[in-house]
Amino acid sequence: AYRKGGYHAVRIGDQFSGGRYIAQRKLGWGQFSTVWLAFDTRTSNYVALKIQKSAQQFAQAALHEIELLQAAADGDPQNTKCVVRLIDDFKHAGPNGQHLCMVLEFLGDSLLRLIRYNRYRGMELNKVREICKCILTGLDYLHRELGMIHSDLKPENILLCSSIDPAKDPIRSGLTPILEKPEGNQNGAATLNLIEKKLKRRARRAVAKISGRRVSIVGLSETPKKTKRNLDGIDMRCKVVDFGNACWDDNKFAEEIQTRQYRAPEVILQSGYSFSVDMWSFACTAFELATGEMLFAPKDGNGYGEDEDHLALMMELLGKMPRKIAIGGARSKDYFDRHGDLKRIRRLKYWPLDRLLTDKYKLPEAEAREFADFLCPILDFAPEKRPTAQQCLQHPWLNLRTQNNEDHIEGRMSNLQIDG
Ligand code: ADP
Ligand code: MG
Repeated sequence: AYRKGGYHAVRIGDQFSGGRYIAQRKLGWGQFSTVWLAFDTRTSNYVALKIQKSAQQFAQAALHEIELLQAAADGDPQNTKCVVRLIDDFKHAGPNGQHLCMVLEFLGDSLLRLIRYNRYRGMELNKVREICKCILTGLDYLHRELGMIHSDLKPENILLCSSIDPAKDPIRSGLTPILEKPEGNQNGAATLNLIEKKLKRRARRAVAKISGRRVSIVGLSETPKKTKRNLDGIDMRCKVVDFGNACWDDNKFAEEIQTRQYRAPEVILQSGYSFSVDMWSFACTAFELATGEMLFAPKDGNGYGEDEDHLALMMELLGKMPRKIAIGGARSKDYFDRHGDLKRIRRLKYWPLDRLLTDKYKLPEAEAREFADFLCPILDFAPEKRPTAQQCLQHPWLNLRTQNNEDHIEGRMSNLQIDG
């Protein structure tokens, strides 16, 4: 992928935008980009630098993403609406071509990582509520104030607001703060090689000679070392990121949107979509946070495809799809007969949400009922019947507090060994 038109290879210490940003370590990557932690020498802040692949179609996509991120930033001067903030954008010429770069506020781990930290066992409901409030705040802003559909909401695209200040806590954030001024250094490349080698050896602390200066290196592991992580007491604020697939409600460009497991039924059936597709993905995400498992994980099988399995899973949980909806989409004939029954999957095993939460995930009955009461209306097959983000924010479930059974929670939450 690091070839013409592809990713831009970045080394620690590389400079961007005329030296303003200095790459520190890789934060993540997606289909179209790599994302780096960078030091902004102008503001002395850490930022996330998203470097797009260079080929024309990726550049086009990045321009679109910048437009939407810019609109989101313009409408939220106080930066309180739970959407990642665009700080800057520029072009960077590299050996693989011209790369569009976005500078974003630096955020923490994704909810997917949080789910993994928790070893796929699900998170305390009180924390799920806090996260849900943030996501809904972001969606309400995007939908009602901006007229924007995110189109790819999922745990991976929701990041916690970082509770770590990289400058103060370099080891936990895996930083190499020595690299403030690599430009003044003749042996820069060799030095960086040395540092990278040491990084690979995961030395915790080392001393390197740079142009005769002794410089101590702190927090050497490029991926932070296994650390104990206890979620108790962590503030669960988060923000929505990745506007690479977002669109204006009145200017859609794709029929097939969303990541498979979070995809709404009207997208599968191609009956047209709007803001409520994000609500569907939101409900899937909330369930996954609480249980540690995806709400729908369709697979293809004997004589049927992933789409049909997906529709079957939806109906097993939510009951039969109303016939009018089932046969109303451009793709309906591929999956449903004229009675509104699936063509290839005939016997469905119904397992409603509240029962699933008690029987499989061992939630106490009252909690399961309350949670299902919050989620079920959002999972309505009729998109226009789903509550809006604004309406969801009014739901009493968000303000409930579950009395913790401390022993139970302790057992689930503490002493987790996490691979950064
Ligand atoms: P793509 O459009 O290629 O999927 P994303 O915007 O989703 O790119 O970013 C890819 C990954 O980079 C994210 O999953 C996350 O791990 C990391 N990342 C993105 N933005 C930030 C940020 N602002 N702060 C910290 N990490 C980020
Ligand atoms: Mg992404």
